[in-house]
Formats: sequence, C-alpha cells, structure tokens
Amino acid sequence: MSSPDAGREAETPVNMRRLGRLRVLQALTDAGEVSRADLMQRTGLSRTTISSLIFDLVREGLVREQSAAAAATTSPRLGRPPLVVSLNPSAGYAFGLDIGHDHARLILSDLAGTPVWDESVDLDVDSSADDTIAAATRLIADALRDTGIDRAAVLGLGVGIACPVDRRTGGLRAEGIMPAWVDLKPAEMLAERTGLRAHVINDANACVVAERRYGVAQLCDDVVYLRLSSGIGAGVVCDGRMLLGHDGLVGELGHISIDPNGAVCRCGNRGCLETIASPTSIATLLSRSWGRAVTSAELIALLQAGDRGAVRALGDAGEAVGQTLAMTVMTLNPKLVVVGGELAAVGDVLLDPIRRALQRNSVSSQHRELQIMVSALGDSASARGAAALVLADTPQLLSERHRQVSGQPGPVG
Ligand SMILES: [Zn+2]
Repeated sequence: MSSPDAGREAETPVNMRRLGRLRVLQALTDAGEVSRADLMQRTGLSRTTISSLIFDLVREGLVREQSAAAAATTSPRLGRPPLVVSLNPSAGYAFGLDIGHDHARLILSDLAGTPVWDESVDLDVDSSADDTIAAATRLIADALRDTGIDRAAVLGLGVGIACPVDRRTGGLRAEGIMPAWVDLKPAEMLAERTGLRAHVINDANACVVAERRYGVAQLCDDVVYLRLSSGIGAGVVCDGRMLLGHDGLVGELGHISIDPNGAVCRCGNRGCLETIASPTSIATLLSRSWGRAVTSAELIALLQAGDRGAVRALGDAGEAVGQTLAMTVMTLNPKLVVVGGELAAVGDVLLDPIRRALQRNSVSSQHRELQIMVSALGDSASARGAAALVLADTPQLLSERHRQVSGQPGPVG
C-alpha cells in the first residue's frame, strides 16, 4: 500500500542534494559558462552548497572549472583569471537526425552542441520508410564506431522530419506528403532499432530551435523560420515559446494556395507555395525551357553565377514566398524571419524579392522593424536542432545516468 506522501519528493538530505545538483546542471545547460557567483544567483543556493556540488560534479567528470581568458581582461584587479564553470562537453552526446524528402543526415553533438560527427546519405525517403530507418540505423552505428563514443554516453536521438508530426502521438500526418510514412511513428521505430531514447518533431521546428540556440536568432523570442527545400514549412516561436497548435501542425506554409489555377500539388490542392517556390519546382521550370533536366544543385550554381533565366525564376518564386510570409507576419508579428534550406545559400538574390513582396503585402507598422536573414546553419539546422532538443533535457538525463551508475536512490515514491 502506498502512503499519502508516495510520489512526492521528501525533503531528505539526499533529495535536497539531488535537487541542488539538478539546479546547477540546469543553470549550466541554459547559460553555458558561468562564474560561481552567477551560479549562486541563478540557483539560489549558498556558496558552500555550490562549492560542494561543483566538487562532486567535477570529480564525476560532468562539469569543468577553468579560467576564462576573455573575462580576465575585464577584471584586472584579481591578479589571476577568474574561473568559470561549464558542463564538460564530452560528458554526454546527442544524435540529431534530419530526414528530408531525398536524404538522411546524422549529426552527433557533444554537450556544448558542437558536432563531432556529421554524415549524410541520399535516398528516396518519401517512398520507403523501411530503407530510410535502416539507413539511419547504419549511420548511428557508423558514428559510434568512427568516434569510439560509447552508446551509453549518448543521451538520446532527436529526429527532425520533413512532414507534419502529431504532437500527441508522434505519428506522421504524411498523407500526400510522404506516402510511405502515413501514421508511422519514426521515433518508436528508431528507438526499437537502436536502443536510444528518441523523439521526433517537424524539421522546420527543429531548425528554429537550432537558429535560436546556435544561429542568427539567438536572444530573439519572436521568430519565424522558413525552410525552402523540396518541402516548404515554417517553425514559429512566439514570446519565446514554440507554437505547435492543437495537433502540432503549425507552419504548413508550403501548402497555402497562392495560384488557384496553378499546378496540382502533391497534397491534392492546386497552386500551393511548394509548387512555385521549392528548388525542385524552380528547377523543373528551367528544365522545361531548356529542354533538359536541371537538378536543384545545378540551379544553385546557376544562381550563384548570375544566370538571367535562373535569377528571373527565383525572383518570381521569391515574390510568392514574400506574399505568403506577409500573411504570416500580419498574423504573428515576428521580429525576425530566418530563411533556410538549400535556396538560402544564394543570399540576397532570394531575399530581395521576398523583402519587396513582403513590404507590398503588409502594413508598414508590421514590417518596419522586421529583419529577414538567411540561416547561419544552412543544411545542418534540422539535425542540430533535433540534437539540441535532446540536450535541453541534459540535467535530468545526466542525473539519471549518475544514479544508475552509482546506485543512488531515485525519486521517493
Ligand atoms: Zn500542397
């Protein structure tokens, strides 16, 4: 029989100490490098408690304390460089997997979010889920073999996928988008194959996480990230929180209809943004006028070389993107729009027509302070963001791992 207190944290010294550890690990996960004084402020713990916890965490290899060369120049009175505390980057790792329509890319990140392994394979993702899951499983095995990192040191696997993800079930709403994946649960499939804790989110959502953590959207609480790849989608952060919506399907901008008489889209509607502005659609346009196949990679090379036809086709696509973004900006009032995906590599050739259309289709109070930038992370954003979501749980996961290793008791109840 369970007592009335079962499930509640009893305030025993062991639990107080465990909560203190969690608070320190959380502060280091959030802030990166901090001084002991900052840690006291962030955690509300006393100097003595902080000292004792840091002593244990350093001894266990989870945390390191070293001099901050940069900080030293601002504190000349101290005589020696001040010390800063941070997580030990090699105390844990996270996998980030990006599943696009035509590739799977795996990044292994250390605790600081720095990629230590990064590989990609081309494959027809849309028509074969089994092959894709098998390829991802092989990439995971390759990464562990190449780096010599123990599987037990990996905190989990985050997956960013180019498909709407049901936030409650983790199942894919793949009808018309990725035909072979309807209702599949890739996180469950990968967890079963690899033994890793896994979760899945839409790739544009993973990208916005990455840009806020490592890219151009750091310190920005109102961001729209638009991914212009063979699929088009947006990740939205409003007031510092990711917007997911009732089912988790916020940001399907690629399937907003722009041209009622346009081409039929794979989703079944007509004239969706994706049929006009994805690299594949633009390359198809050029293929038609040149009488030969043009790949997306060739399109980007043509744009970078200033080819008139390619620039014109991209300009028209940029207009359509700007028109769609204007609706988004009028609805959500972001401070920053980040444009990512393959096409972002061409910079202002893409951004200029987007800016023009956005200004023409929104009111000046909405776009006056709006910034539009290309992604700092390029094609790696989805995989890095998916790994960052695993790393966000670092405090709990490291504590859990430590308890399992040391045999310390878990939560009471
Ligand atoms: Zn569509």
